This record gives sequence, structure tokens and C-alpha cells, in this order.
Amino acid sequence: ATMPPMLAAIANSGRHGVLIKSARALERLARCDRVALDKTGTLTEGAPRLADVRPLPGSGLRDDDLLAVAAAAEHASEHPLASAVVDAARARGLALPPAADFTSAPGLGVAATVDGRRVEAGSPARLLGDDPDAAEAAAEAERLEERGRTAVLVVVDGAPAGVLGIADRLRPEAAAAVARLGALTGAPPILLTGDNPRAAEHTAAEAGITDVRAGLLPEDKVAAVRAAEENGHRVLMVGDGVNDAPALAAATSGTAMGGAGSDLALESADTVVVRDDLGAVPAAVLLARRARTLVV
Ligand code: ADP
Ligand code: MG
Repeated sequence: ATMPPMLAAIANSGRHGVLIKSARALERLARCDRVALDKTGTLTEGAPRLADVRPLPGSGLRDDDLLAVAAAAEHASEHPLASAVVDAARARGLALPPAADFTSAPGLGVAATVDGRRVEAGSPARLLGDDPDAAEAAAEAERLEERGRTAVLVVVDGAPAGVLGIADRLRPEAAAAVARLGALTGAPPILLTGDNPRAAEHTAAEAGITDVRAGLLPEDKVAAVRAAEENGHRVLMVGDGVNDAPALAAATSGTAMGGAGSDLALESADTVVVRDDLGAVPAAVLLARRARTLVV
């Protein structure tokens, strides 16, 4: 017996590097005419590496002290930035002090009690607010961001202690995949990121994206998707993180990067990229459209 085209497309999707979860998921994917992509872990490799360690002079911390407390606080986080910090501390052979009372806020950062001190690590813009004492930390973060780094601010017992610079490479296939998605949908792809505008523009320029929204919390990504849908678009959201999960669920179709993607993102998505290759996303759109054409 021959398989119906929709079922055949779902069965074949694995060979194209994606998993399409259902016939309805395939149908929704075929209808999308605008693409929104997350930055960290989606356009970039998601294997960011620690590049700079900058304790503030007033903190009394050496490079390794700053890195060790940050790594202790980040230890329980599954965010790619957290892995960069923890891996770098391990590579330097640093002993991580024990951490307790870990909390994480998607799109913001983490906090934990390390050796009796409250340590926060995360977005400089959000952790610093407009605290005048923090000017030095803000300037350091800005210097790193101008070089395309994602800056992670480390705060110890409420006082800025230093800034870490994380370098994340664009996926080698990102620019080609973005160009194909733009051509397939006939609309410019949108970059949605929780990272700062300087790092966002840096990555967007490399990937060929001009519509950039930075500094977004998870609910802001949802709002951006909804706004595009209210303008008559059917949005395909592509993301990897816990912070993308609500937008993946809110979009007409959600695609999660499977490689280092978070479990929540995988659950919230209609399709999953199983080969760690962004080129599978335009391939999946084509596959879905062809299958639907055969049915109609
Ligand atoms: P993106 O949307 O590009 O995937 P995220 O929303 O995951 O980025 O993160 C946005 C920002 O929040 C990061 O650039 C960082 O400043 C901060 N952040 C989030 N999680 C962490 C973490 N575990 N450690 C440090 N900073 C974090
Ligand atoms: Mg991400």
C-alpha cells in the first residue's frame, strides 16, 4: 500500500534532519510566511566560550576568584552561557565552592548562595538598573559588548564584582539558512534575543538579518510573535532555550534546535531539528509545503 503524502513526509523528515511531530504540525509549518529566530544557541553554535574575566578593582577579587564564584552560581543552570562559565572554571582547575538556594530567571540570569554569600550572574542591563555605583561595571560590560561579546555581570552580596565576556560563534550554515528562509517566505526574518542590542546587531549583521529586537524577556518574544501574527503573518519561531518556549508555543509553528536545546523548548515545539544544522529548517518548510501540495 502507498503511504498518504502527509504521513510519508513525516516518516521522511528524519532524513532531512528534522522531526515533525504530527500531521497538524506539518500543516502549520507549511502555512508559515514569516520566520523569527532566537540568537544564542539558534543562530550561534550554542557552545559559547569564556573569553574575558574582568574583576572590578574595588571587589578585591582576582580573576580566578571571580570565575569560581560565578561558576558555582551557574553550576545548576542549563543555559549555554552557564556551561561556558563552568567549563572555563574546570579547565583552569578551579575548585567550585558549594552553592545552595539556586534560582534562575529565563532571559535574566541566575542566583545562588555560595559560601554564605549571595551571588547573582546575568544580564548587566537588568541586574544593574540605574545604580550610580555600578557605572564602572556598566562601562566594562559595554566595552565587551562592543567587541561582540555577551557580557555576564557578577554581583556578590548586592555589589557588582566583575564582568565576564562570552564569545559565541555564528553557526557556519546560519547566513545561508536565513537567506533561504527569507526567500521561501518572501519576508525578512526577525531576530528575537534576550541579549543586549550591541551583541544582537553584531550577530544579525553576520547572519544577514536587519529586523533585530534585543533585550527581550520570554514574554516579550511572545509579544513580538503575536504582533507579527496580528499583522497578518503566520510565524515560524525557531529557538532552543527555556526562554523561547512560550514563543515557540504561541507561534503558528515552533521549531526547536535539538542539539543542546532545553527539554522545555523541545516539548513546546511542533518540529525539532535533530541534526545540529540550521539548514534543516528551510528544508523542513519545503518538505511540509510539498506534502500539502500533494494532498490538496
Ligand atoms: P537568547 O534570547 O539570545 O537565547 P537568552 O534570553 O537566553 O538569550 O539570555 C538573554 C540574556 O540573559 C543573556 O544575554 C544574559 O545576559 C542573561 N542570561 C540568561 N541566562 C543566563 C545565565 N544562566 N547566566 C548568565 N546570564 C544569563
Ligand atoms: Mg537561545
